[in-house]
Amino acid sequence: MSSKPCIIVVTSPSGAGKTTLARGLMKRLPQITFSVSATTRKPRPHERDGHDYHFLTAEAFQQAIRDGRLLEYEQVYPDCFYGTLYSEVEASDAEHPVLLDIDVNGALNVKERYGDAALAVFIATPSLDTLLQRLRERGTETDDSLQVRMTRARYELSHADRFDATVVNNDLEDALTALTHLVEQHMAACRVPS
Ligand code: 5GP
Repeated sequence: MSSKPCIIVVTSPSGAGKTTLARGLMKRLPQITFSVSATTRKPRPHERDGHDYHFLTAEAFQQAIRDGRLLEYEQVYPDCFYGTLYSEVEASDAEHPVLLDIDVNGALNVKERYGDAALAVFIATPSLDTLLQRLRERGTETDDSLQVRMTRARYELSHADRFDATVVNNDLEDALTALTHLVEQHMAACRVPS
């Protein structure tokens, strides 16, 4: 009696704590699997191929597009493409939801395509200043890429009201509790046959 698929999409400006929240959510609800995106971005030092991302060359990414293997893709930053592989979401259902951690345009595309089967949650910081501070503390960005990410953050924030819900990540535990509650409600809704 499960309806297929059951998708959770979280989006937020880079540095707003979305990845930490996504990991926390999966600890609380271990039946959720994480959709590993494809990207042309270079791996950061701690990142593993196939675990954090499928790191592809620009040619391999274009081939994946031509082969129709991407459910959605975006050029999130000038030189970097990111995309969700169909293979990552195909097996999801109400008992095994899939979590997508993707940008605002990708999230809205997935929402449009899957409707009620997808829960789209925007993760925000209390302010843009908080975001800038967190990005600086993370220490993974150059001055240039910091500026690119802040410009992008302003753009993403302007679309927050198109999501099903917004969670403000001020206190991590509170934000995690709010997100878990939303996801549990969504999983229950996925169980109801349409
Ligand atoms: P980062 O380079 O910081 O890992 O991610 C940069 C941005 O790309 C984030 O906003 C992230 O959510 C987004 N992103 C990651 N994977 C995907 C994907 O598969 N599709 C889309 N549209 N965006 C993605």
